[in-house]
Amino acid sequence: MPDKFIVLDRDGVINVDLFDYVLKNETFEFEKGSVEALIKLHKNNYQIIVATNQKCINLGLISAEGIKKINNFWINKIKELGGDILHVEVCPHRDEENCNCRKPKTGLIIAAEKKLSINLKKSYFIGDKLSDLECAVSHGCKPILVKTGYGSRTFSSNYPQETKVFENLKAAVDWITN
Ligand SMILES: [Mg+2]
Ligand SMILES: [Zn+2]
Repeated sequence: MPDKFIVLDRDGVINVDLFDYVLKNETFEFEKGSVEALIKLHKNNYQIIVATNQKCINLGLISAEGIKKINNFWINKIKELGGDILHVEVCPHRDEENCNCRKPKTGLIIAAEKKLSINLKKSYFIGDKLSDLECAVSHGCKPILVKTGYGSRTFSSNYPQETKVFENLKAAVDWITN
């Protein structure tokens, strides 16, 4: 069976968005049902790519290595439970740096495609912010909005009309894999 790829935002999708930064393992809290959803994606042959803006790095609040450790922490939990995460792309930049990777720009997706020699156009892209949905549409991914994190706010904004909307990652994954 050919690999299927899916792009996920992290904060507000996989874990509870603190409306602040996750700077240590202890404050990384999975969203309700998200562990189950990640495992279900894996069991349904989806390869998961996480694309996350973490300007806390260039704000000097944590090192890139620190963010990597937090990601290893939760990814290891998923692996212990029978799931897997193929790849994580992190944008460390602040808005003022005008990088090409901070979502809604598509650099994170392009970097993942290059590193993995894959094509993510037409893949689902699940996020809670308008910047996720805009990134998805700009790159030709299929945008999915979840109402967790900033999602309920995004839901009352002018988001791309082709966006599918679900309560949370679990509901989105149940629909995708159905
Ligand atoms: Mg988010
Ligand atoms: Zn960047």
